[in-house]
Amino acid sequence: MFENLSDKIQRAFKNLTGKGKISEENIQEALKEIRLALLEADVNFKVVKKFVNEVKAEALGQEVQEGLDPGQHMVKVVHEKLIDILGGRTPEVKLKGTAPHVIMMVGLQGSGKTTSSGKLARMLTEEGYSPYLVPCDVYRPAAIQQLMTVAEQVNVPVFDSTENPKPMEIAKRSMKEARNAGRDVVIIDTAGRLHIDEALMDELKDLKAFLEPSEILFVADAMTGQDAVQSARAFHEALDITGVVLTKMDGDARGGAALSIKKVTERPIKFIGTGEKLDAFERFHPDRMASRILGMGDVLSLIEQVQKKVDQDEAQKLQEKMLKNQFTLEDFGKSLTQIGKMGDLGSLMGLIPGMGRMKDQIDSQAESKQMRRMQAIINSMTADERRNHAILNQSRKIRIAKGSGVTVNEINTMLNQFMQMRKMMGMMSKPGKLGKLTQMFN
Ligand code: GDP
Repeated sequence: MFENLSDKIQRAFKNLTGKGKISEENIQEALKEIRLALLEADVNFKVVKKFVNEVKAEALGQEVQEGLDPGQHMVKVVHEKLIDILGGRTPEVKLKGTAPHVIMMVGLQGSGKTTSSGKLARMLTEEGYSPYLVPCDVYRPAAIQQLMTVAEQVNVPVFDSTENPKPMEIAKRSMKEARNAGRDVVIIDTAGRLHIDEALMDELKDLKAFLEPSEILFVADAMTGQDAVQSARAFHEALDITGVVLTKMDGDARGGAALSIKKVTERPIKFIGTGEKLDAFERFHPDRMASRILGMGDVLSLIEQVQKKVDQDEAQKLQEKMLKNQFTLEDFGKSLTQIGKMGDLGSLMGLIPGMGRMKDQIDSQAESKQMRRMQAIINSMTADERRNHAILNQSRKIRIAKGSGVTVNEINTMLNQFMQMRKMMGMMSKPGKLGKLTQMFN
């Protein structure tokens, strides 16, 4: 998701990293890239203009925060602005008045209304509600059948609309049923059209007037970009929607829809659909989405995480040993423990700027398993062996292999990696090379 957008913005910041100070001149290029990237990502041009101006004003007025370089600082500013545009806090679903509360799902045909109705029912059930699904698309019998199937899959009762030709009739009867059955949230899957038309809007307005819904969620297909923005505007004008469900975010969605719909309707995106399966549905988190859009991970939380989890004294000692090229297998074992403490490798990678995409290429479970095996090998060594890997001959290796449940081959592989690491450290310990690394862990 958002791959194009994040690629572009990352490239824009590359040129900035390492520059001494944020000036009008050196962010010009970066801002231009951001502008282009957002436009290409199909963000509404007015939104882009406002966004870029705000980022610029903010960045220029600020001093670079201590501990960050200007590039990271800009990421922070852009990140915060994105969160702002995307709606700030994670929005709540509002259920007002007495039960049963009504949630109306509206949107164009094919946007994912029926699927999302089922997904929402599933989520609400998990949260302790007792939802009731109501198919109200009388023009497409297949749609009614589809919701009934979905309802069965998520184990939520559904109103049988097959005998009712009129939406208003369905609304009245289903509310009565829901009340009788003690259901507390009624989710109405309304009819969609391929295009917005007046008859559809009138029908929805009537339904709204009768049902007095707590929420009218506009379901938009993220893949349709600006089209989704246009229909969002039309539905909002007619119905005063309360929120948005953005579907198909798992696809090659252009990031523009999320940003623009929020801006155009001034209504929060409340949920996102991330797949065809009925559990592929999440609450929308502006901060997480901003990080995902940036694809640069959250630099600040990385720094925080590293500082919190790593034993500072231990890290300091290891670092000195690295510098003096006295790094032993014992130290290697300790550093594996430290890395292990920071959490799963994949999620850490996601936090490192520029590594966001690499995360997907890493099988983090396999990596963690690999690290545990290395740790086991080191644990099976004697203290002497750990301090001096040179004494590891074949018979010692066979003993260690038995002790740790690995093959001698695996031990050799690990030793090779360890030796390569030492060699690299030897090179880095030459003046000037370790600056960045040292900074990160201090
Ligand atoms: P409706 O006409 O608005 O009710 O749309 P449907 O719920 O029938 O969805 C249309 C198509 O989009 C179906 O094939 C769904 O499986 C698919 N779909 C819905 N939501 C998602 C999603 O979040 N991700 C993906 N990949 N497909 C989705």
